[in-house]
Amino acid sequence: MGLRRFIQASYFQCARTSGILKHVRYKPPSLVQWRYSGSSLYKAVIFDMGGVLLPSPYRVAVEWEVRNCIPPGTIKQALISGGENRPWMRYMRGELTSAEFLQEFGHQCSEIVSQANLSVPVDSFLSDLTSSQMSKQLPIMTEALECIRAEGLKTAVLSNNFYLHSGVSFLPLDRSQFDVIESCREGICKPDPRIYTLCLERLGVQPKESIFLDDIGQNLKAAAQLGIKTVKVDDPEAALKELESCLGFPLQGFVPHTRLVRPTMEIPKDPLQKYLEEVLGGWTTGPLILRQFSHGQSNPTYYIKFGDRHLVLRKKPPGNLLPTAHAVEREAIPNSGWPVTEIPLFQFCHSSIIGTPFYLMEYCSGHIYKDVSLPGLDPGQRRAIYMAMNKVLCKIHRVDLKAAGLEDYGKHGNYVQRQVQTWTKQYRATETHTIPTMERLIEWLPLHLPGNQKTTVVHGDFRLDNLIFHPEGPEVLAVLDWELSTLGDPISDVAYNCMAHYMPSDLDILKGLKDCDVTELGIPTAEEYFQMYCEHMGIPPIENWNFYMAFSFFRVAAILQGVYKRSLTGQASSAAAESSGKQVELMANLAWDFATKEGFRVFKECSAAKPLARPYSTWTRNGAFSRRNYVTMAPSSPAHISKAHLILSPDGLPGRAQDLYHKLRRFMEIHIYPAEQVLRVHQVSQSRWTPHPLIEELKDKAKSEGLWNLFLPVESDPEVKYGAGLTNQEFSHLCELMGTSLFAPEIFNCSPPDTGNMEVLVRYGTEEQKERWLQPLLDGKIRSCFAMTEPQVASSDATNIESSVVEEKGFYILNGHKWWISGALDPRCQLCVFMGKTDPEAQRHKQQSMLLVPMDTPGITVTRPLSVFGEEDPPAGHGEIFFENVRVPKENILLGPGRGFEIAQGRLGPGRIHHCMRLVGYSERALALMKERVTSRVAFGKPLAEQGTILEDIAKSRAEIEQARLLVLKAALLMDTAGNKAAALEIAMIKMVAPLMALRVIDRAIQAFGAAGLSNDYPLAQFFAWARALRLADGPDEVHRTAVAKLELKR
Ligand SMILES: Cc1cc2nc3c(=O)[nH]c(=O)nc-3n(C[C@H](O)[C@H](O)[C@H](O)COP(=O)(O)OP(=O)(O)OC[C@H]3O[C@@H](n4cnc5c(N)ncnc54)[C@H](O)[C@@H]3O)c2cc1C
Repeated sequence: MGLRRFIQASYFQCARTSGILKHVRYKPPSLVQWRYSGSSLYKAVIFDMGGVLLPSPYRVAVEWEVRNCIPPGTIKQALISGGENRPWMRYMRGELTSAEFLQEFGHQCSEIVSQANLSVPVDSFLSDLTSSQMSKQLPIMTEALECIRAEGLKTAVLSNNFYLHSGVSFLPLDRSQFDVIESCREGICKPDPRIYTLCLERLGVQPKESIFLDDIGQNLKAAAQLGIKTVKVDDPEAALKELESCLGFPLQGFVPHTRLVRPTMEIPKDPLQKYLEEVLGGWTTGPLILRQFSHGQSNPTYYIKFGDRHLVLRKKPPGNLLPTAHAVEREAIPNSGWPVTEIPLFQFCHSSIIGTPFYLMEYCSGHIYKDVSLPGLDPGQRRAIYMAMNKVLCKIHRVDLKAAGLEDYGKHGNYVQRQVQTWTKQYRATETHTIPTMERLIEWLPLHLPGNQKTTVVHGDFRLDNLIFHPEGPEVLAVLDWELSTLGDPISDVAYNCMAHYMPSDLDILKGLKDCDVTELGIPTAEEYFQMYCEHMGIPPIENWNFYMAFSFFRVAAILQGVYKRSLTGQASSAAAESSGKQVELMANLAWDFATKEGFRVFKECSAAKPLARPYSTWTRNGAFSRRNYVTMAPSSPAHISKAHLILSPDGLPGRAQDLYHKLRRFMEIHIYPAEQVLRVHQVSQSRWTPHPLIEELKDKAKSEGLWNLFLPVESDPEVKYGAGLTNQEFSHLCELMGTSLFAPEIFNCSPPDTGNMEVLVRYGTEEQKERWLQPLLDGKIRSCFAMTEPQVASSDATNIESSVVEEKGFYILNGHKWWISGALDPRCQLCVFMGKTDPEAQRHKQQSMLLVPMDTPGITVTRPLSVFGEEDPPAGHGEIFFENVRVPKENILLGPGRGFEIAQGRLGPGRIHHCMRLVGYSERALALMKERVTSRVAFGKPLAEQGTILEDIAKSRAEIEQARLLVLKAALLMDTAGNKAAALEIAMIKMVAPLMALRVIDRAIQAFGAAGLSNDYPLAQFFAWARALRLADGPDEVHRTAVAKLELKR
């Protein structure tokens, strides 16, 4: 405990000898006693300027009169006598120019001295009044102001002021420290009550919440009459004493970036003092002054002055903490070759001394730039600061691990992967509500991990306000906050360092540069900064830069979520913590923007030559599949999705997907095509509303062969818990093959509407909902339907849906009339995903909700099957259903009230193009049948295949199928790489294209077949009917066309 430790060759020693360390002035003992509750009655302090912040003008007048042999008191009398229209008052109200004022004021002074022939040189008085000596703010006032502002109070200057010859007012103060109210600008002077009211309005405070300091009694009297607390300033020191007692905290002893210790963050002083006496040696005594650094959300940090020592104490926050968070012990490593760092002075100390673990450092005085736009500097200075920051980062990344003895400072390799896991875990542990973008990122990041990660020291929180700069130049003196430091991928530090470039400037806790013209400011753009880094490090530019940005924002979102959660339990070390809750979503959205950019980059770099290299499972699945997984083949070894490729044919599929494809093909040939006729006959028999036993038999067979639930994209199921872990593009090839038979999709548990419903449950279901509904659906034990469309409204616009969902004592009561509900007649259909309005008054897209409704709930009546060209599609059917006072428990809502549209977007993700994939399959089968037919039949002396029109039809069909397939694959690849939202244009285009293409190809095949093509002896008529229905069932063509045109116009 408390072992003294000398730090070799420390920066601190150099700094001390070169005089960089500045010592805070010693303060009287009384200062130590202050206890500020942090909740002062007062919210603002208002200062007069001359005589309060600046020296008194009356004193200048006295000295000036002596020097110029003017009778004493002349100036004072001229200033105060003569009523509202005296020259001084008119000058203060901005009614006179300085030349006019001097003329009238000179005249007035001559009259006062009763010597009309004596010229009073008032212009030299005005010069003295505005001389450089008069323009210096009193140092005690400056310190008092800093103390007041550090505690979060507002400060203002309320001055009877005047314009100089130049036309600007006389205001030799740092305007950034005050709201400024000047009489010459407002046209009103103190003691007119209106100017006080104006000042209070600008500050946004009540009279009783403010204190006013002035040296003139009548000005104070007017303020007091409004209810403002007043302090008369005759002697500034005495006035500040009085102000201190009003405010309840000291106005001396300010240390930059610190404030009084917040009540929830106090440290027991006696044990700390005893400890310091012990470790610093008996000669260091004196009062212990303790202040808290105001920035830093994670570990509370304190300034300590003890005797002549200036120290910094950093500790864990109080309360229950996540096991790996707030690792101050990681920071307290001895200096072992770090280029620039904060240097722990004493070993890490355990909680026995002050209740929480802590360590101490020397206080390093310098400048911390909290605002990344560096206000007050010129463009050259700003650039130099950014370059210095860049160079320091390179220095850190160049540390020789072996020479510094840091080889064991962290794990080697796979840093980003581990970080994604860690922050996902931390996020889950502090999650307060579902944030859809975070969910998407949690799925996306593991699939896009970078390859070839280098291992260096990484800081983990490298940003401008963690650096202490030399007060006079762009030299980094210390790098603070090593809590997250370890060995890792250095590019993550650079990306993290560039985040500010993309954040808005009005964020409470992390100010950004997004709204600034960085080039004009002299600040390098993020790209330049990164390039600068690469040049310093001698490395080529990193292509997946966007991934690192997405990862950085994701990490910040996860950190802020932790801060927010702690703020709810009162442990957060910063008052700003609560606002961090709102910022989590903002950070997640920024992360997702970069994820989308990265997806587009990967997509654009696609080459059609090589197959997509992709991890089937990046880290969660090691070999064995879970009970739920029916795919029996081992996953491919983890690979990185650094390049994605368009896979034009099944032969280009990566190993496992290709194996599945060939297995599927064999299954189709051996079991499905031969069964079609039997199943088709059953569909028109009396028993058609009961599933044919062959279907269940084939399902079991498919399941046992691992040809099951192939549809669920790895993006929705990254742990491959539920599906086969295929990408959308890989599944496209398999789904097309399934589409060659109308009976096939169900046999592989890949048929709608179950696929969409299962995906909804995977993405948005609670664990209970998954257990109750997802598992039996995945097992193929039950079926489901999706109920949105209503006969009375145009349902292509889902905002029209009218069914009502009303909350009542722990239940929702559903009422509505639905139709075209596919699957509703199937005796195996046990679940209905119901869409209805929970709040008709809410915003248009927040009115609808989705609920899980058991089909046997009282009040549900399926009245009839609807038919498509006479086809009823048994046993699933498309039902008309009445919901009358159907009661379901509140837990049956998906995601929450008003989130129906959000889910609909997700539901219609990958599932949206499954129909298109199958339509390509219908078309291939139709063309294959057509080719067989025309080569075996002869008309007018030669095989049909030799007739010119037939040849033309075959050529057109082949070309159109290929075109549509390419678009399907493009949409699927874009969904895999850039996400469903980014692929919106391609999705809408293929939905527009695929059914019409299929209709043309199937129609040509029917024509080539002759009358047989219209019959049920071949699948062509059914293909045609379903392709036609899909021009409506999957949303009307017009809606997709509108979407395409709107997106095209935006490009
Ligand atoms: C076989 C089949 C299965 C179905 N399965 C289901 C199911 O399981 N669950 C379910 O909820 N619904 C299902 N539906 C219903 C389907 O989703 C709707 O029919 C579809 O959304 C259109 O809605 P609507 O019929 O009310 O047509 P309306 O909305 O009335 O539209 C009629 C027509 O208006 C025109 N139109 C509409 N919008 C525009 C526009 N923006 N620009 C130009 N013209 C426009 C189009 O020509 C459109 O066809 C199914 C339909 C079919 C045919």
